[in-house]
Amino acid sequence: VKEFDLINTYFKPLAKGFPGSLNLTDDAAVLDIPAGFQLIITKDAISQGVHFIGNEAPSLIAKKLLRTNLSDLAAKGTTPYCYFLAGMLPKNTDEAWIKSFTSGLAEDQKLFGIHLAGGDTTSTLGSLSLSITALGLVPKNSALTRSRAKIGDDIYVSGTLGDSALGLLSAQGKCPHDAFLINRYQLPEPRLSLGQTLRGIANSCMDISDGLVQDLEHICKASNVGAVIEAHTLPLSAAAQKIGTLLALEAALSGGDDYELLFTVAPENAKNIAALAKKFALPIARIGKIANGKKVRVIDESGKEIDIEKKGFLHF
Ligand SMILES: [Mg+2]
Repeated sequence: VKEFDLINTYFKPLAKGFPGSLNLTDDAAVLDIPAGFQLIITKDAISQGVHFIGNEAPSLIAKKLLRTNLSDLAAKGTTPYCYFLAGMLPKNTDEAWIKSFTSGLAEDQKLFGIHLAGGDTTSTLGSLSLSITALGLVPKNSALTRSRAKIGDDIYVSGTLGDSALGLLSAQGKCPHDAFLINRYQLPEPRLSLGQTLRGIANSCMDISDGLVQDLEHICKASNVGAVIEAHTLPLSAAAQKIGTLLALEAALSGGDDYELLFTVAPENAKNIAALAKKFALPIARIGKIANGKKVRVIDESGKEIDIEKKGFLHF
């Protein structure tokens, strides 16, 4: 199939209704930024064998690619605006693949309110890799960041942790088959509404993509603080606990691909958080506190520190 035909048939419909895309007929997009807003721009790439196995439906791969980017927009408190797509496709990629891939994008564009504004595809001698640059809007100077966590803040996470890492193991046949966990790996849920509502409530925020401990370390470093995680408060799904409580805990602490929001809030705002959990029908768990120092420590129910490295809690 010729590139122009592919663009006409499969990509132009994704840009329809977004004037800045110039209907994908020009060299570049032309974007307006509404007065009083800032652009938030993020880029995520995924490749076969690392972020997806390769036997998934192309529509699912498309959704994960878009959603990992939307999760970064959620972490900044952003409303999605538009995105740019780059695909490095192996030479044997056929039209059926493109059709399924773009149908996945179309479904999620509708669900999350975003349009394709431009992009490029090229063939590669290597394996499939894909990248999106996503743009969002926030009212000026209101974007959430990692750098304003304060000592005494409570630490919260949305949803449940570790499902995705266990879902990958499950999809690979390395632990029992579990459709819920595999779905959590393949189809993350970007917490856009929560992120938008956290503007003005949370002191710091990010999305968890590399594992809770490692990502909380990023907040600590950026904010020049330490943190304590209370291991017994980590939200674990029933499916994860069924795999094994210890493995579920390890996955919650260090498994990747969660795409839940990790944020810190002054204690006086705790009741706002309970109200948000109710409003979005989304579990939000308090998992610890921002503290003095530079380290992320993990404690058990009795307050005793767990040596997470020595105990193998970071092995994911
Ligand atoms: Mg991120």
